[in-house]
Amino acid sequence: MPNKEPGLATRCVHAGEMQDPHGSPHTPLYQTTTFKFASSADLLDVVEGRKPGSLYTRYGLNPTIRALEEKLAALEGAEAAWVFCSGMAAEAALFFAHGRKGIVCIGDAYGGTLELLSSQLNDLNIPAYFLLGSELEGLKAYLELGASLVFFETPTNPTLEVLDIARISGIAHEYGALVAVDNTFASPVNQPPLALGADFAVHSATKYLGGHSDITAGALMGSAHLLATVWNWRKNLGSMIAPETASLLMRSLRTLTVRVERQNATALAVAQSMQRHPGVARVLYPGLPDFPGHATAKAQMSGFGGVLTLEVKGGYEDAVRMVDRLKLFAIAPSLGGVESLVTMPVTTTHHGLSAEERARRGISDSMVRLSVGLEDAADLIEDLEQALGGIPG
Ligand SMILES: *Cc1c(COP(=O)(O)O)cnc(C)c1O
Repeated sequence: MPNKEPGLATRCVHAGEMQDPHGSPHTPLYQTTTFKFASSADLLDVVEGRKPGSLYTRYGLNPTIRALEEKLAALEGAEAAWVFCSGMAAEAALFFAHGRKGIVCIGDAYGGTLELLSSQLNDLNIPAYFLLGSELEGLKAYLELGASLVFFETPTNPTLEVLDIARISGIAHEYGALVAVDNTFASPVNQPPLALGADFAVHSATKYLGGHSDITAGALMGSAHLLATVWNWRKNLGSMIAPETASLLMRSLRTLTVRVERQNATALAVAQSMQRHPGVARVLYPGLPDFPGHATAKAQMSGFGGVLTLEVKGGYEDAVRMVDRLKLFAIAPSLGGVESLVTMPVTTTHHGLSAEERARRGISDSMVRLSVGLEDAADLIEDLEQALGGIPG
């Protein structure tokens, strides 16, 4: 490989891959729970950290898992990465390791994250504070109370609000707090949270990194020093990825740039076409020049992602009718796969919130969230147009 840092697509294919003695071009699957040693002294060298080596899969000391972590670290430009059995497992280990003095969650977040912060961690007396993206002036007060971790997604679900990673990181660091960005929606192809000043990038690898709606996994990237504190939480909460899943995730990552770049292009084409449709009141997509977060998105993202949200004209009933008529878009939660999916926030991700709370967050009853897959853009647009047919313009 060339001396300078290889580009992202090259890293997707080659970073972390081990040299296999049999000549396999990619890392083999070590479907093994434990590893044997020639002597007790050799075993102790690994247990006591004097030598690197494979030991026990739940610890992550398995060659397939380590290779995956090296690839993931390279993709986020991080010193280190840990993988987990789900995105929630990654977040939980991060919160336990670095958020025990208090966590500030900014903007909308994944339902599981909000529940973990407001219910389970609250039961353990770990304070969680919530701010809308428009309430950033309130951040300092929570940092003064001693919050040790600031957490947010960008773009957020489902309104695609764009939060300024460099600005929020600057404020948090003034108070000695750490910053974690959930980079699931953007993926490392579109946004580099660590280069923008965040301390951690966290992923539901179930989405774009896995990319085929067939594996559940998570990842956390950051400095080796900060990740070291997370190690025992992952190990003893038992939230390790299975080697088979690690191998599948590694296979997916080799095509990450190709998939995400196509999804960026298709989502933009769909967004532009829907903006012109008389049955659509509003299109929320960071790549549209008149979208409120567009300037910040342009500054910190190199592509705008594969998720967009439509506000259908009329109300809830009209949106449901449109969703139920779609043929190519499947009605299913989740995103980032090769197949296009559709959900309504009011019936899925934000179902548990009161109508007032949804309104405060800018979520309406006629919102439809689309995750575009790898089908032809023209076919997806045609499907949306036939489904919107009959909605009064
Ligand atoms: C899906 C998702 C999660 C949770 O990930 P799992 O892999 O389902 O545990 C966290 N954050 C975001 C933004 C997500 O979309």
